[in-house]
Amino acid sequence: MTNASPDTPVLRLTNTLTRTKDVFHPIDPQNVRMYVCGPTVYDFAHIGNARPVIVFDVLYRLLRHLYGAGHVTYVRNITDVDDKINARALRDFPGLPLNDAIARVTSTTADQFHADVKALGCLEPSHEPRATQHIAGMVSMIETLIARGHAYVAQTQDGGEVLFDTGSMEAYGQLSKRNLEDQRAGARIAVDAHKKNPGDFVLWKLSSPEEPGWDSPWGRGRPGWHIECSVMSAHHLGEVFDIHGGGLDLIFPHHENEIAQSCCAHGTSVMANFWLHNGFVQVEGRKMSKSEGNFVTIHDLLHTEKFGGRKWPGEVLRLAMLMTHYREPIDFSVKRLEEAERLLAKWPEVQETAAAPAPEVLAALTDDLNTVAAVQALHGLAQNAAKDSALLPVYCASARLLGLAPVAAVLEDVDTGRIEALVGARLASLEAKNWAEADRIRDELSAMGIQLKDGKDAATGKRVTTWEVKR
Ligand SMILES: [Zn+2]
Repeated sequence: MTNASPDTPVLRLTNTLTRTKDVFHPIDPQNVRMYVCGPTVYDFAHIGNARPVIVFDVLYRLLRHLYGAGHVTYVRNITDVDDKINARALRDFPGLPLNDAIARVTSTTADQFHADVKALGCLEPSHEPRATQHIAGMVSMIETLIARGHAYVAQTQDGGEVLFDTGSMEAYGQLSKRNLEDQRAGARIAVDAHKKNPGDFVLWKLSSPEEPGWDSPWGRGRPGWHIECSVMSAHHLGEVFDIHGGGLDLIFPHHENEIAQSCCAHGTSVMANFWLHNGFVQVEGRKMSKSEGNFVTIHDLLHTEKFGGRKWPGEVLRLAMLMTHYREPIDFSVKRLEEAERLLAKWPEVQETAAAPAPEVLAALTDDLNTVAAVQALHGLAQNAAKDSALLPVYCASARLLGLAPVAAVLEDVDTGRIEALVGARLASLEAKNWAEADRIRDELSAMGIQLKDGKDAATGKRVTTWEVKR
């Protein structure tokens, strides 16, 4: 196994499976594969949800830099089957049939999530599968698990369930380092009578007529949460892939159970070679909760004055997040946002460039995604670039590797009238053969985040220019 080329810097990542910082070797450098657990779409995403999205966006950008943009597949799912979604649908759309109400909740929330993470400067993943698109795959994997003796049907008071038999898997607990003995000893509450082992978890749950459901060999029901990630990751990335990511709170039970399902269904010893987990997010020094009154959504931060009495640009939120190492807990506060904003204010505008990022930024990121050191290095580059414009391209390339380019700000308030006027002025300059002025205007637009495309009108043969917001 080798990296893409002999010059590819060595990438080290802390692997939750081994609890050590390991050198990353992709299974196939032509197709580096990463899966990250995405949101359950029933409500606005909070700032804790933003952290894995930003952290793994930086890793995605780094992998694209190391192996080539076309050689990385990034899958982030959308959980659109969940009892919280059903409850929200009943509460918000009591007059609608349940399926329509659920569709309203999930599509509105997914749209909101996309708008939020775009404002945070995140690239779109290669694939964004939804649980409801993969029900047949889940039924099929559950059938395999039953056939292989890793799952069983149990009767419960409210119908029935298919459960994963944790006792059937010798290696169960490899990620969280919990073993079944610990779980038995720790089970102070009587084991649910229908379970063989206290840790057995739901693969399929029968639905009442009022609940959403799909037909299955076990009756009309709905899948458990864990099974969807096993099925969607295998669908897009294969039975064993390179990196699986998510928040620290997902290690147990979610990721442990994903591993159990995938390894037992496919007969593999691992599901992913590297497991990466980001730390918790606190707000103003306290655990975030609705009852504490410090529950902060991305939407509120971007568009309302609920946090610190003002709106915050997406880029400030992103930089504030990257100023702490991804594995450390982060304290999200007004002070921290102000600090990030002060830093950004000193940095030159980031423009598109073909230059390579600075070695020191790359060295920091390839050392277990050390964004703290990378931001420090970037600050040094920014100061130098402000004095010497010849250093601008390296600074810009480095900022882009961290996803720090003011795309979000531009997207929010594109001044169409001004752009059209500049595009027109540039066309006039080109017609007058005033190349210097035309270039100057193009650069001005580029600094505003606008990309131009020159062409000829097919009918008249006259020069035409279209523009778009740079991504
Ligand atoms: Zn998952």
